[in-house]
Amino acid sequence: AGFASFGLPQILLKALVDAGYQTPTPIQNAAIPELMKGRDMLALAQTGTGKTAAFTLPVMAVLSRAHGTRQPRSVRALILAPTRELAIQIHDNVRTYAKGSHIRSTVIVGGVSINNQIKELSGGVDILVATPGRLLDHLSQKTVRIDTVSHLVLDEADRMLDMGFIRDIKKIVAMLPAKRHSMLFSATMPGEIEELGRVLLHQPARIDL
Ligand code: AMP
Repeated sequence: AGFASFGLPQILLKALVDAGYQTPTPIQNAAIPELMKGRDMLALAQTGTGKTAAFTLPVMAVLSRAHGTRQPRSVRALILAPTRELAIQIHDNVRTYAKGSHIRSTVIVGGVSINNQIKELSGGVDILVATPGRLLDHLSQKTVRIDTVSHLVLDEADRMLDMGFIRDIKKIVAMLPAKRHSMLFSATMPGEIEELGRVLLHQPARIDL
């Protein structure tokens, strides 16, 4: 059974073929079916395992079905990452999988001009990949709204904890609709991350490969 067995839309399957993906990785086999059912997830996952596709593809499956019916666009999926590098890398993957679809996305990180980001955001995006600090800057300037988000991903949550982002994360989450599909990925599972999971997730599927 390959990617075709997950019930992903044709357009995503084609993007995966074009990207040269042939077989799902173990985390993709474990996570994608649960996420396609809409279950929340707490996943222990290392870099290099294919975790980005594992959380991105099910979210994009939902968004690609909804495209075209909503005007103007609003942020429906928020992916938070601890570092610029990781956020940009996640967004590169999103762009690869969005090839040929109508899904629009952008990445919002610190250390670069905020004006270009404001311009990107004003055009409307479906998927926003961000680091917490710069996202909070935009939220306080009201240059982005996240009250339409239906999918939340926290990637490398343990690094967010190490970098002192947990308060920022909690501030951001407080601005999201309570009814949403949430996923937390982390390379380690210290008590604080379990605790964050209890606050953020609703009866999550647990993945620990
Ligand atoms: P990640 O762990 O998400 O950072 O992914 C590691 C690398 O593997 C990235 O370059 C992905 O593009 C690639 N990748 C992810 N899933 C697959 C797959 N099923 N087949 C081939 N390459 C993949």
